[in-house]
Amino acid sequence: MAYVITEPCKGTKSTECVNVCPVNCIHPTPDEPDFENVEMLYINPDECIECGACASVCPVNAIFHENDVPEQWKNYIEINAQYYQG
Ligand code: SF4
Ligand code: SF4
Repeated sequence: MAYVITEPCKGTKSTECVNVCPVNCIHPTPDEPDFENVEMLYINPDECIECGACASVCPVNAIFHENDVPEQWKNYIEINAQYYQG
């Protein structure tokens, strides 16, 4: 199980979540080449420890626990995972 970034992050990429994640599982970070190319950031579901720190700092409330993702954004569970399947 993991936290998931959803639609409100698109076009925001404000990176507060990156700065608080204790296991650095949110990418791309601003210093990674892919940062300029993506619409939003993604959480690696294999590395997330479900601490919730990212969700509490997101200014647009884009981050939810996998079990609590609103119905209209459930596809983002797969979208986050796909970013890490290269
Ligand atoms: S804090 Fe929220 S809006 Fe900012 S990059 Fe993270 S998920 Fe996106
Ligand atoms: S829940 Fe914790 S470990 Fe998972 S992405 Fe957010 S800050 Fe990182």
